[in-house]
Amino acid sequence: MTCNILYDAQNVFAKILRKEIPCEAVFENEYALAFKDIHPKAAVHILVIPKGAYTDAYDFHAKASDKEISGFYQAINTVVDQLDLCKTGFKLVSHCGKNAGQEVFHYHVHLLADR
Ligand code: AMP
Repeated sequence: MTCNILYDAQNVFAKILRKEIPCEAVFENEYALAFKDIHPKAAVHILVIPKGAYTDAYDFHAKASDKEISGFYQAINTVVDQLDLCKTGFKLVSHCGKNAGQEVFHYHVHLLADR
């Protein structure tokens, strides 16, 4: 079962992971990279992406290993702690598919907060 398209290794986040284009990184572990969104829609707008090649949330949850999944979601909490976002509250958003507004087809979670 799948609800996604084939992974395209030329997508912008794959290029960021390969360091072909720069990003403003805020955290990295073995399984995830977190960096500032280039067009922020809130005072804090961080994108957290897994290092593996997954197109969207459904693909990631279906195919990633338990280690990749826990390493990825732990990275989100680390960024939340780093930025002290439990005080303000925060939103996690992930678009899955074109119809839901997904533009970059490498799985990512938007971490949004207003100070
Ligand atoms: P989505 O609509 O969920 O696929 O969101 C893609 C997000 O990636 C948008 O919020 C863009 O502003 C952001 N984005 C695109 N290119 C870059 C880039 N080179 N560096 C940082 N963020 C980017």
